[in-house]
Amino acid sequence: MSIEKTKKEIPYGRHQISQKDIDAVVGVLNSDFLTQGPEVEKFEHSLSVYCGSKYTVAVNSATSALHIACCAANVCPGDKVWVPANSFVATANCAKYCGAVLDFVDINLDDGNISIEDLQRKLEHARINGELPKLVIAVDFAGIPCDLKRIRELSNIYGFKLILDASHALGAIYEGNRVGSNRYSDFTVFSFHPVKIIATGEGGAVTTNSDQDYERLKLLRSHGVSRFSKAHYGNLGAELWSYEQVTLGYNYRLSDIHAALGNSQLSRINYFLKKRVRQALHYKESLSGLPIKSPVFNLINTPSFHLYVIQIPTKDNVYSRNNLYQYLTKVGIQCNFHYIPIYRHPFYEREGFFSGYCKNAEIWFREMLTIPLFPAFSHSDQEYVINQIKEFFE
Ligand SMILES: *Cc1c(COP(=O)(O)O)cnc(C)c1O
Repeated sequence: MSIEKTKKEIPYGRHQISQKDIDAVVGVLNSDFLTQGPEVEKFEHSLSVYCGSKYTVAVNSATSALHIACCAANVCPGDKVWVPANSFVATANCAKYCGAVLDFVDINLDDGNISIEDLQRKLEHARINGELPKLVIAVDFAGIPCDLKRIRELSNIYGFKLILDASHALGAIYEGNRVGSNRYSDFTVFSFHPVKIIATGEGGAVTTNSDQDYERLKLLRSHGVSRFSKAHYGNLGAELWSYEQVTLGYNYRLSDIHAALGNSQLSRINYFLKKRVRQALHYKESLSGLPIKSPVFNLINTPSFHLYVIQIPTKDNVYSRNNLYQYLTKVGIQCNFHYIPIYRHPFYEREGFFSGYCKNAEIWFREMLTIPLFPAFSHSDQEYVINQIKEFFE
């Protein structure tokens, strides 16, 4: 029995693979290295050059990248780490792995990014109570750069380290610098999950400008084992072996198979970004007459538009967002939600967080909807989505 595919199905995001990508992966399969080798080295170098950062450490996911960045920032059990409420759970979990105590900062309703006002208010409160965070993880939500310069100013005043979770924002430009340059942060993390800007299958990376942090990130990625540290084993023949474990690390290595795909995809990033920006601008213009809100952004801080998230204001206590979601699903348009506030997940509610903890994140939670946007999204499919949304409101 065959299942007939009659209905149009448009995903909210999707990777785009070319013949060149396939050839690059096959090339590695025929080579001497399958795990971390020359393709990873090349990928790291290319990312450093692209982002304008001194170093890149490629790993097997952004979650791993966030974890080793937290370790390199020296997050210890009991340390306080703050993250925006509107993000993927990995942004918070990475600090949990280090035993941190999490807290959540509210967001702007303009763009879903961390609210600088709420951050400042919380910091001042924490300073008075002697409860300042050791680390803040900011997020460039949907690929729209958050106001990192102002967060850096606060980090200088209140003495916390700063990781930018730029899983959505490879290729975005903030204040004239490519996201990942670490002009205003200690570390930047990227994801190469298939729905993100470029794909490696699974994969992630950390960029940094610090020599010391770079060395530490490399150790943490691979078992805490160093090839080059001085052996100190007395007369046991240390000159005969080539590695020793100097700290507790993990196996977070990226394989050359994945990195080859990453290299090939990175060579097409301008094309990917151009498509995303064009589709975002088309949505913004085409949906402007409807009772919905498009994200606020400016093209000086060029977003990468990983996602296009609209808001449908609640009317007469009816969540028209849910109705729109159901309507679009019926006509073959798969939408998504970014995000349930992290603290509303059962795991975090068990830590004492509750509905209403961050006022704007709750409004966002009720009203936002992610509509399709991705490089392989055709103009006619985008017109179809726009027309279906218009019909819903008629
Ligand atoms: C996708 C994503 C991650 C996790 O990425 P993986 O590579 O899947 O581990 C972390 N943070 C944010 C904001 C993300 O969107």
